[in-house]
Amino acid sequence: ATPVAALDAVTVSYGSTKALDNVDLTIERGEIIGVIGESGAGKSTLLGILDAVEHPTTGRVLIEGTDPKELSGRARRQLRRRIGMVFQGFNLLSNRTVRQNIALPLKLQRRSEPTLVTELLDYVGLSDHADRYPAQLSGGQKQRVAIARALVTRPGLLLCDEPTSALDTRTTADILDLLADTRRDFGTTIVLVTHELDAVGAICDRAAILEQGALKSILAVAPSARER
Ligand code: ADP
Ligand code: ADP
Repeated sequence: ATPVAALDAVTVSYGSTKALDNVDLTIERGEIIGVIGESGAGKSTLLGILDAVEHPTTGRVLIEGTDPKELSGRARRQLRRRIGMVFQGFNLLSNRTVRQNIALPLKLQRRSEPTLVTELLDYVGLSDHADRYPAQLSGGQKQRVAIARALVTRPGLLLCDEPTSALDTRTTADILDLLADTRRDFGTTIVLVTHELDAVGAICDRAAILEQGALKSILAVAPSARER
């Protein structure tokens, strides 16, 4: 099977800084892979590469078997629709309701799938909050909205950038459970950037350790270390 993403000797340079330094990494379909590293280690750059918005200075990237660099703008946009993003700061539109926020990616594609939006509202446990605004939600609820919004285009790949860093311990566990459920129920491949080792132990199959742009090691997470 074609891997979701394959990086071959990928270097991303900004002047003399190598944000990524000769990284080889294959992301398999249906896995949850953690990405760990200090500030400046290259985590955001790696997400940018996987989201096909950044390109290697040298080396090669295949996303779903194709090199995003070689795609037309239109084809790259289509590829990127199959990639969902979840952020630390939720990035919800404050003047739109929960339902409208979730439906937004569809709206931008001039699509409307109210049934899917209703199902995802239920899936993330926010059916009763559909008409509220983000300011009326807790942090965990906001992240649930953001996850539903990311899932509404049925992405094969979900990129999560520190999704629990703004949340307390209990809410963190709930959000990690939701991500694990998402993989189980929809087969979504998940990349989880985090500085929380507990998160890796809880739901990841593997963890990639970045140091100054280099992939230091890849740890297999023992199933026994995972709670589920
Ligand atoms: P992380 O997400 O792990 O904090 P980043 O991928 O943001 O790391 O950055 C890796 C390195 O690349 C850092 O040294 C950062 O300063 C540098 N870098 C990232 N993006 C740019 C850019 N657009 N211009 C210049 N330097 C950059
Ligand atoms: P459908 O009934 O549309 O063929 P499924 O039976 O695979 O889809 O899944 C049932 C519901 O789960 C869908 O209607 C949708 O709400 C949700 N769903 C399915 N696949 C995904 C996905 N990849 N990401 C997010 N939600 C999904």
